[in-house]
Amino acid sequence: KVRVRFAPSPTGGLHIGGVRTALYNYLIAKKYNGSMILRIEDTDQTRYVEGAEEYIKEALEWIGIQLDESPWHGGEFAPYRQSERKALYKQYAEQLVKDGHAYYAFDTEEEWEKKRKELESAGVISPQYNSITRMQMKNSLTLSESEVNTKLAVGEPYVIRLKVPRKEDIRVHDLIRGWVTFHSSLLDDRVLLKSDGMPTYHLANVVDDYLMQISHVIRGEEWLPSAPIHVLLYKYLGWEKEMPQFAHLPLILNPDGNGKLSKRYADQLGFPVFPLQWKSPEKDEVMKGYREEGYFPEAMVNFLVLLGWNAGTEQEIFSMQELIEAFSIERIGKAGTKFDINKAKWFNQQYLKAKPNEELAKLFIEDLKKQNITLSQEKAEKVVSILKDRVTFVKDFLQEGSYLFYAPQTFDQQVASKKWNQQVVEVLTAYKNQLKNLTALLDASNAKDILHQVTDSLGIKFGSVMQGVRLAITGVGAGADLMEIIAFLGIEEVSKRIDYAIK
Ligand code: GLU
Repeated sequence: KVRVRFAPSPTGGLHIGGVRTALYNYLIAKKYNGSMILRIEDTDQTRYVEGAEEYIKEALEWIGIQLDESPWHGGEFAPYRQSERKALYKQYAEQLVKDGHAYYAFDTEEEWEKKRKELESAGVISPQYNSITRMQMKNSLTLSESEVNTKLAVGEPYVIRLKVPRKEDIRVHDLIRGWVTFHSSLLDDRVLLKSDGMPTYHLANVVDDYLMQISHVIRGEEWLPSAPIHVLLYKYLGWEKEMPQFAHLPLILNPDGNGKLSKRYADQLGFPVFPLQWKSPEKDEVMKGYREEGYFPEAMVNFLVLLGWNAGTEQEIFSMQELIEAFSIERIGKAGTKFDINKAKWFNQQYLKAKPNEELAKLFIEDLKKQNITLSQEKAEKVVSILKDRVTFVKDFLQEGSYLFYAPQTFDQQVASKKWNQQVVEVLTAYKNQLKNLTALLDASNAKDILHQVTDSLGIKFGSVMQGVRLAITGVGAGADLMEIIAFLGIEEVSKRIDYAIK
């Protein structure tokens, strides 16, 4: 059975890359009728940030990822918060010690720091607590059994470290990269259990993946260097047969391809790296979120899924259901993908265009309410239909179509200098009078017919005065279909605007 997990640490607002990881996991879970599990990895209490958990929950709900098991939904393997599983991990660390794969280390951090400096000045490059240096330290591999027992009996603080073998190739099979080999000399004897009894990420992660019967570990590439440690743990704990399959996702890169997508970089270019607005409880900064910027969650899903995966076809627009069918680990790339905010905007535009006017009008009305503007559903639907092809976000409707709400006070001078002339004034004057005589309901089509009649009877080319007419009515030289605008404004308002423009 396919069981995948998303395992965030509540150390701050969830980064957009984390949302992509969650999404890939979710798609695999759904595709194979498996389960999507969320586990909170909060063993590092010093990095715990208030509100981060709720944020993760809300962000996943917004994007449309449904969880089968989680701290909030419960499940067969509860609890799903590592801090609540604390008592569970120690026995595994102790078992590893008993079996000779881990050991007690009694050195304080200062002692190791001193040794590290010593080794450095003796020419060792970035010394690590490993198979060689461990022999110079205070641990159960160098001390006698009775010394160790005494220390334990008097409650001297200790950590449990993994005993990484001296010279061994550790092979990790990755579904995206194939076999990846790590030489054990490059790994240090990672701490598994801290002196406060808390497990480190490595121990808790492996123990929980095993106990929760996880079948696939799908996570960011930054965790690939941890994979050999995990492989050793599975082996030493006797769980090799139950070891999940690994898939390390390619990095999301800054727009110029330089390094991992960073908040600083995004700030400079003015786009968010968080799904939702994030207010850090410690710092008084508010981080922009895609939701608040006006992105549709479906557009974000579509945008995010393509940062590292492609369908191998021309299709670009995918609903969640289509993604569940089309998605596969085989088509995830190895190379990092550049983040392109314009692509995100493009997707939003596509989703906006595809939405029914009725729905967009409701969203638009909501948006206007925030600015204390009220608009009827009927009017809002008209605005939406006039401007739909010209906007990216719902919030753009007002700005893009400000001339639908406010009569122009000033006129674009550049356009005026080229397009405003006596002929335009003549046409406008006649047009105004003709409109007054209209008995039928004004719509885009008769608005246009009447204007044509006017220009024809004056012997003026329609095309030569169009921009001038637009300028009079909207104040600007370009915009949505002018006849639609005229129909929306109505005869009275159009006449007023003409009067103002020609006076
Ligand atoms: N807690 C880790 C994180 O914050 C989980 C990494 C993993 O999926 O193994 O991303």
